[in-house]
Amino acid sequence: MTNKLLTVGVDLGGTKIAFGALDQEGTLYHQEIIKTRVSDGPLAIVADVIAAVNRIKEKEPSCQFLGVGIGMAGQIEKQTGAVFFSTNLGWQNFPLQEMVAKEMQLPVYVLNDVRAAAFGEWVVGAGKGSKDILCVFVGTGIGGGVVSDSMLLEGDTNAAAEIGHFTIDLQGPKCTCGNTGCFEAFAGGWAIAKRAKELIRQNMSDGQDILKLVDGKVDALTTKHVFEAYRCGAALAKQVVEELTLALIAGTSGLVNIFNPERLILGGSICVGNSELIEAVHQGVLKKSLKISTRNLKIMAASLGNSAGVIGAAMYAKKKIEEGNKR
Ligand SMILES: [Zn+2]
Repeated sequence: MTNKLLTVGVDLGGTKIAFGALDQEGTLYHQEIIKTRVSDGPLAIVADVIAAVNRIKEKEPSCQFLGVGIGMAGQIEKQTGAVFFSTNLGWQNFPLQEMVAKEMQLPVYVLNDVRAAAFGEWVVGAGKGSKDILCVFVGTGIGGGVVSDSMLLEGDTNAAAEIGHFTIDLQGPKCTCGNTGCFEAFAGGWAIAKRAKELIRQNMSDGQDILKLVDGKVDALTTKHVFEAYRCGAALAKQVVEELTLALIAGTSGLVNIFNPERLILGGSICVGNSELIEAVHQGVLKKSLKISTRNLKIMAASLGNSAGVIGAAMYAKKKIEEGNKR
């Protein structure tokens, strides 16, 4: 590869950091994944990021590097790219963008990781070519991104599209954000495992089929086990998945009414490869949302998989750099 213009994408999560270099055509090179040394603190992680970006640069000495985009699991300040707060990494007011930029001598842009993934899906993934998309990523929690009339919504304090945290049930369970009855408290991965544990504790005999998967240890139960038991026909798992499906339909139907996307893109570990769930949400949303909101609506699976964050972060940085050059 010679004389290409590359932008490095970084997906900085609570357990792992993924890297890759994206060319002008959207092809990703030199992907690498390392563990996040959370307990060593932010400076160690910054050093790891810089070392990995340098490794990529060394592999392509004849290419020009435009800059670095970092998708970070946390709330990010719009103007400075500093991390306001990150639950996963335990960071607060950390100047990530400034520190990496100073070391790399390249433009660096930091954005929220879920928004980076949504940006990636919009530019080169399932949302490509559309002006209005809503991405709903259902993993441990629920996050998303909204592109409205070709603009990625950021909000006043860069916290737009926190779609996991709006109330769908006033009497609902407590959420990780401190509120009660949030969308995520019903349909996020953590909530699914919690609900299964709750039902098992209420009726141990109903839970036997699931408990076999965790040697009888209720506390060891994860969302993965719930889906495994569901596929084996366990009645309790079926109840949990049915409740999840109804919650997902309720949440996404409301979001479709609010944002009126042309494409509703479903991703995250709970949705990926789960065509049955995506189809159920599809049918449910068509029934529940306003007729006008669904006139042109397409509901589809996210297409970039685990690379969405890296691709999106690189694409976002590239766009920001190009905008800066125009000024
Ligand atoms: Zn919440």
